[in-house]
Amino acid sequence: MNESLVQRLATLRQRITDACARVGRKTDEVRLLPVSKGFGPDAIQEAAAAGLTVFGESRVQEARAKIPACPGHLSWHFVGHLQRNKAREAVRLFDLLHAVDSLRLLQTLEDLCEQEGRNLPVFLEVNVGEDPSKFGLAPSEVPAVLEVAAGLRRVTVCGLMTVPPFTRDPADSRPYFRRLRECRDAGSVQVGMPLPELSMGMSRDFEWAIEEGATWVRIGTALFGPRPVRPAPGFVDTGKG
Ligand SMILES: *Cc1c(COP(=O)(O)O)cnc(C)c1O
Repeated sequence: MNESLVQRLATLRQRITDACARVGRKTDEVRLLPVSKGFGPDAIQEAAAAGLTVFGESRVQEARAKIPACPGHLSWHFVGHLQRNKAREAVRLFDLLHAVDSLRLLQTLEDLCEQEGRNLPVFLEVNVGEDPSKFGLAPSEVPAVLEVAAGLRRVTVCGLMTVPPFTRDPADSRPYFRRLRECRDAGSVQVGMPLPELSMGMSRDFEWAIEEGATWVRIGTALFGPRPVRPAPGFVDTGKG
């Protein structure tokens, strides 16, 4: 028998609570971001009926078709790499961006938010593993980007995000999560900017991320099940963002 989404959600919440308890954190310091990429509006409707209100998507093209077909009270976070030519649409579709990975993108977002007359909270993506196949700022670049961020009017950098290098044993992600926290602590002191949020941890390693200070865990498969090989009709992922 397949477990229901409600059961998987209950299990996840218990695991989050247990991870918090192990390190003396309060459960409400950690927010669950269901990552719904690959799933259509039906799955999101079911998750919304279970009480979830914030969802993560990683491709603008997929989100463009999906968001208007979902309940209007939901909030959407963008967790993927954002191409600058999709930035205006992202600013219109999303409430928060988890993975701002260049100074140029940060400045583009500031200009677009000025034009759109909105404010935008974001996190900076840091490539803590310095993995050449991954997006993100090098840890050494973070202070300079924070200095620029401190002068922006529309975009507020509220924290850092990372996707650690893939390791066979998910426990091996832990040092990367610690490094993101240290990078946050150092950057925050250096620039005198509060950076309360740490977006780190996915289905396979979120408990280690929580033990290292995550405030957002981004969970796809542990909540929705394996992503469909074939996208739901109308939500074809062309890989072009
Ligand atoms: C897909 C994705 C997730 C969720 O991954 P799971 O392993 O399915 O939990 C989290 N973060 C980002 C950036 C993603 O692209």
